[in-house]
Amino acid sequence: MKLKIAIQKSGRLHDDSIKLLKECGIDINNGVNKLKTEASNFPLEVFFLRDDDIPQYIEDGVADIGIVGENVVLEKKKQVNIVEKLGFGKCRLSMAVPKAMEYASVQDLQHTRIATSYPVIVSEFLQRHNITAEIHEISGSVEIAPGIGLADAICDLVSSGSTLFMNGLKEVETVLKSEAVLAACHQLQPEQQQLLDKLQFRIQAVKRAKN
Ligand code: ATP
Ligand code: ZN
Repeated sequence: MKLKIAIQKSGRLHDDSIKLLKECGIDINNGVNKLKTEASNFPLEVFFLRDDDIPQYIEDGVADIGIVGENVVLEKKKQVNIVEKLGFGKCRLSMAVPKAMEYASVQDLQHTRIATSYPVIVSEFLQRHNITAEIHEISGSVEIAPGIGLADAICDLVSSGSTLFMNGLKEVETVLKSEAVLAACHQLQPEQQQLLDKLQFRIQAVKRAKN
């Protein structure tokens, strides 16, 4: 019996996910072009996937656990348990508007067009603030939307803010703070749960050593 973990195939979370497993004493070979690999010294099978697909794989039980941004877990609305925050992949989902736009409060988003890859999280945010706006879902390069006349504002992931700045935008609201999390399937077999407990125990030790 093995524990199946899904991690990002390539991208911002890939290297830190592998690093965390290594710090937990788990030996896996980096399968950049592979779909899956196995650890040599822990009953762990590693699937390399696009981050967007990870919550679905966990909900379906194809993977028992996964490492993914909390932003993706919340956007996908899948039934998974967040069992541990991992302290990397830190970013925020923020509203940004053109630098020249006068912005005093969230009321200034009333009746605007907002481009985002996170329509679910954004519409919940707008509802919470009683704002009516048009959400334009786009999958990438969200920051260029205002410049090409597609939107009045955007909501996108930010870490330093330099991408926004380079595109003539300013950050005006933080919608969500996010980091990588360990997510788990709701229905784990007892054996898988035991392996998860063991892994989590090691992750907690790694986190403590860093503080
Ligand atoms: P994939 O090919 O797996 O779909 P992607 O392009 O959707 O990858 P990445 O850009 O690699 O995703 O980001 C993965 C995760 O890294 C994000 O969902 C987020 O949780 C986190 N992250 C941390 N900082 C940033 C940032 N500045 N911009 C975007 N994502 C960030
Ligand atoms: Zn993605």
